[in-house]
Amino acid sequence: MKNLLNAFQSGLKKTAVSLSRKISGCFTGKSQWSDSDYELLEAALINSDFGISITRRIISSIRTSYEQGIIKTDDDIFLIAKNEVLKLFSKEQSNIKIELGAGLSTLMLVGVNGCGKTTSAGKLASHYKNNGMKVMLAACDTFRAAATEQLKIWGEKTSSYVVSGVAGADSASVAYDAVTAAKNRGYDLLVIDTAGRQHAKKNLMEELGKISKTVEKLNPGKLTTIIVIDGSMGSNALAQVEEFSKFCKIDGLICTKLDGSYKGGMVVAITEKFNLPVLFLGLGEGINDLQKFDPNLFAEAVFEKIKD
Ligand code: GDP
Repeated sequence: MKNLLNAFQSGLKKTAVSLSRKISGCFTGKSQWSDSDYELLEAALINSDFGISITRRIISSIRTSYEQGIIKTDDDIFLIAKNEVLKLFSKEQSNIKIELGAGLSTLMLVGVNGCGKTTSAGKLASHYKNNGMKVMLAACDTFRAAATEQLKIWGEKTSSYVVSGVAGADSASVAYDAVTAAKNRGYDLLVIDTAGRQHAKKNLMEELGKISKTVEKLNPGKLTTIIVIDGSMGSNALAQVEEFSKFCKIDGLICTKLDGSYKGGMVVAITEKFNLPVLFLGLGEGINDLQKFDPNLFAEAVFEKIKD
């Protein structure tokens, strides 16, 4: 568990440093806390993209504890913030339904260009292979030849079979071939990479529906659609979840590139707004830098008190 905590702490360092400096600075050395101190704290949380409502709950909880004389040191503030975030996750994360049981399961990754879908597909292959599963990859981004090539590189890195089509092929037909092959050959998991949708383009978005229908028809009830969100986008990514949800039923999310971002609070904001389970976090570019989401480790890492 210690190693896992280290992985979360190093991947979420930028958010933690940004928050820690501000949280420690708000109240230190002050005998009486004023509204403007709370406003500074509020600004710090908003700046890390926690979103308004959880931010207000954290502030209100700190204010109440202070007025009741419960807060003695900075550490108590960090603890209250952690607990509020955990309370939210325990409510919202209860609907995780990613169950990779008997027979073939399929994960379909959707999201805008550059959010980290292909990289996450490769990392997922590695993760589930390490858990003893037989994993196949499908390159359903048939718009960009480079995308298929990139997935093939991940196929080599993870020793996973990659199903692909010719450039410009119907992406649903690649999905069809992949599901058929994976079922026939007794695979446990198929990870489908899709083209980076510009959510303003309706016809491209509709293709996602076609891929999921194809998968559902061949292998009913075993498709999990995951939206991949670029963690450096902060709360802007909320609009993407909204748009993609109009075209396919999203079951969960992966938030990538949190290692390069101080906006780690967005994970909380998205969970709160969409009641979507966070499945994995991308905490670096390497093959092992995809961590299964753990609310305790996340809260612990984001509200780590950094000593300068
Ligand atoms: P796609 O267009 O959605 O398939 O995005 P890619 O998988 O090609 O990723 C775009 C860029 O983001 C690549 O340079 C990846 O190496 C990088 N990337 C993806 N996930 C992460 C992550 O968790 N951390 C970091 N630092 N980079 C990432």
